[in-house]
Amino acid sequence: MIIIMGNGATDAQIGAVVTKIEGFGLTANVSRGTERTVIGAIGDERKLSPDMFDPMDGVEYSLHIVKQYKIVSRDSHRRDTVIDVGGVPIGGNRIQIIGGPCSVETQQQMDLSAQHVAAAGCRLMRGGAFKPRTSPYTFQGNGVDGLDMFRKAADKHGLRIVTELMDARMLEVFLKYDVDVIQIGTRSMQNFELLKEVGRIDKPVILKRGMAATVSEWLMAAEYIAAGGNHNIIFCERGIRTFETAYRNVLDVTCVPVLKKETHLPVIIDPSHAGGKAWMVPALARAAIAAGADGLLVEMHPSPCDAWCDADQALNPEEFAALVESLRGIAGIIGRSL
Ligand code: PEP
Ligand code: MN
Repeated sequence: MIIIMGNGATDAQIGAVVTKIEGFGLTANVSRGTERTVIGAIGDERKLSPDMFDPMDGVEYSLHIVKQYKIVSRDSHRRDTVIDVGGVPIGGNRIQIIGGPCSVETQQQMDLSAQHVAAAGCRLMRGGAFKPRTSPYTFQGNGVDGLDMFRKAADKHGLRIVTELMDARMLEVFLKYDVDVIQIGTRSMQNFELLKEVGRIDKPVILKRGMAATVSEWLMAAEYIAAGGNHNIIFCERGIRTFETAYRNVLDVTCVPVLKKETHLPVIIDPSHAGGKAWMVPALARAAIAAGADGLLVEMHPSPCDAWCDADQALNPEEFAALVESLRGIAGIIGRSL
């Protein structure tokens, strides 16, 4: 971290900054120029932050020179990390499409969904048993019964299951049902206590981007999970809030190359919650794969009109199968498989 002193900073003010740096166990390097004095803090600067120095007398401003995220950074691990989800790799050459309904409704709906997901050639299935809904009066998910239905349906087809955890008190139940991938939703991205809890286990985690989170905040959220010991993290872009109202969210495809540069962890895209309409999903999905995403999280329902949640954005089984086929072509062109 470097601290730039204002023009005319006194020796006492410079000394106070040096004392503060040393108080955190770092050493200070004072460089006196003709107009400005610049103080460098040498050591693990992650303990320090600009708000510790900016209010001090004589300080003009201060800034970090190293990134705040460490374990998730590509600096700490040059090669792409491949996450093993019960034998299914996420992050390698092979692109994984995670399909399934927004929410777990009935056993029959889950059985049919699992059948179609498997028939399309996918290895992982999605479905929410605990739903984060805007209104408390709408369907909140089937809870533990939903996990049970999901597990039964997926097991018949050998599919790995992906489902959202909203409350750390449910973690034991998720482990009991052997949820293969724990999804942290957009509304929970900065629920730091929840992040710490999933950091203590070794189950793969899909960390969705907060709908108003910067890439750097998202990386820091992942660092919370990683700092607890769980490095099995998959980033999922699902669209961000902007001034645009013509679609549910704006799919930030730009974040794919940016994340690929910043982190060694896999990146997937959820085109369904981005567009919010089924007809937009194929175009967004193709853009995501072309941009280098390692996979997709796509909503598919056996009968979209009857879906209890996010009916407008669900593909029907035929549309889903056709999408997966079209993505095979794109994957081939960019030297990947599906
Ligand atoms: C979901 O995937 O079902 C979901 C609720 O997504 P998000 O957290 O991105 O809104
Ligand atoms: Mn949904």
